[in-house]
Amino acid sequence: MIKSSLIHFKMKSGGFTLVELIIILVIIGILSSVAILRFMMLTDTAKASLCIANQQTLNAAQAMYLAQTSVNTGYSEYADDLNDLIPFIDSGTVPECPIGGTYEIDPVSGIITCSLTEHIVD
Ligand SMILES: [Zn+2]
Repeated sequence: MIKSSLIHFKMKSGGFTLVELIIILVIIGILSSVAILRFMMLTDTAKASLCIANQQTLNAAQAMYLAQTSVNTGYSEYADDLNDLIPFIDSGTVPECPIGGTYEIDPVSGIITCSLTEHIVD
């Protein structure tokens, strides 16, 4: 009896069985897929936030453009081209949507929005 349990202990102490290894690998796979999915969602959220910040920068530049034309010409006029806003943007360039959307100027309100619907400012 003692001898057989010693033999069993010796075999067991050799390492993990194949089934135990497979279970561990499956658990690691599930955990890493959840972590990767969550990381991808965070980067999408960060890119959308950057796009919204870009729209706020462009709309602030649009307001400054409106004030400037009002002072210079006596009547208010929105910029109809994003390049007209460059003098009012600190970076000196028109920011671009990080996911590839395009910024469009509403001809009536002058408000600048991204063409991607998930980047609409509330
Ligand atoms: Zn965008």
